[in-house]
Amino acid sequence: MDDLARTKAILADLVAFPTISADSNLRLITYAGDLLSSAGAQLSVSLDESGNKANLFATIGPERDGGIVLSGHTDVVPVEGQDWTSDPFVMSERDGRLYGRGTCDMKGFIAACLAVAPRFAQLDLARPLHFAFTYDEEVGCLGARALVDELRKAGLRPAAAIIGEPTMMGVIEGHKGCYEYTTEFTGLEGHGSQPDKGVNAVEYAVRYISRLMALGAELKDRAPAESRFSPPWTTVQVGRIAGGNARNTIAGHCSVEWEMRPVHTDDSDHVKRELGAYVDQDLLPAMRHVYQDASIVTHVIGEVRGLLPVSQSEARDIVFELTGNRQSELVSFGTEAGLFQEIGISSVICGPGSIAQAHKPDEFIAIDQLQACLDMLDKLRLNLATREMPT
Ligand SMILES: [Zn+2]
Repeated sequence: MDDLARTKAILADLVAFPTISADSNLRLITYAGDLLSSAGAQLSVSLDESGNKANLFATIGPERDGGIVLSGHTDVVPVEGQDWTSDPFVMSERDGRLYGRGTCDMKGFIAACLAVAPRFAQLDLARPLHFAFTYDEEVGCLGARALVDELRKAGLRPAAAIIGEPTMMGVIEGHKGCYEYTTEFTGLEGHGSQPDKGVNAVEYAVRYISRLMALGAELKDRAPAESRFSPPWTTVQVGRIAGGNARNTIAGHCSVEWEMRPVHTDDSDHVKRELGAYVDQDLLPAMRHVYQDASIVTHVIGEVRGLLPVSQSEARDIVFELTGNRQSELVSFGTEAGLFQEIGISSVICGPGSIAQAHKPDEFIAIDQLQACLDMLDKLRLNLATREMPT
């Protein structure tokens, strides 16, 4: 079987594991682990707190720093309410495309990695090749966060990571972070004719939002001069607000759903610090002056770090060489790349398929995209190899 046929067969198996973020990915991890260990890889599987999800980190070649990481998330988004032509968890081939949930985001990349792993294992690699397959990317990169913590604790320092999110094999070297929050205000209800006897949660939410908007305006002045993002500064945005019961009733509750897209973590730290101080020093004391149990609680929905483009990037240079591409771009979607970058691993995003198909009904990956990915991995193999292993 050639690499493409093997990749298609593995992808069909991967699609059949319905690894929606809410559900377990253990069967897929076991399957991938079996393939990698029979290819000769050293495995490290780590479970999350629930014991229902796991990361798989595997290494082929010498156990030392300076390796290359091929990284992909194993979870997929739900299919509920989507109109699919065929069963989303049974891969189907039509018109040069492979349809199924996760085919492009991002089981196609994982299938290609698994298909070629034995070829890497046949070589005496000068530097290690790692596979990092994670859980819960779609709900805030939880698995990758645990994985980079373990790498840090183990003291392992791979040099570069290629995150195979769908970019049509284009080279992506940066994206903003995506930080999402819900802030809940709890006040004290009362009759609308006596506003001073209650604590109006909607009014305090408005004051909070006003402070947030003022910070948002300041962020424009903090845009790095060399920023290539559009817009070049960190943005904040309130997407939803819900609170109160009726015109003549003091609102006892209000929730504000808001997000921040930082170009740099300094900005997100600044906003969080300023908002926290405003809540602790102004809003809460005023609310509690009337009602001791009043509260303002911010829930973190997700904090996906950005990938900061840097002038010297080994990962970008490697992928330039592997793909023949000479141009890199920035994108607006978030990935796990920023987490790898945070612990000093040069990171880049490059993978088969298009983000335009991700999360949609009839998600597909074009077969020629899988082939392009295999070509990249083949070049990587030749680059990492010093000589064939004696047989
Ligand atoms: Zn993805």
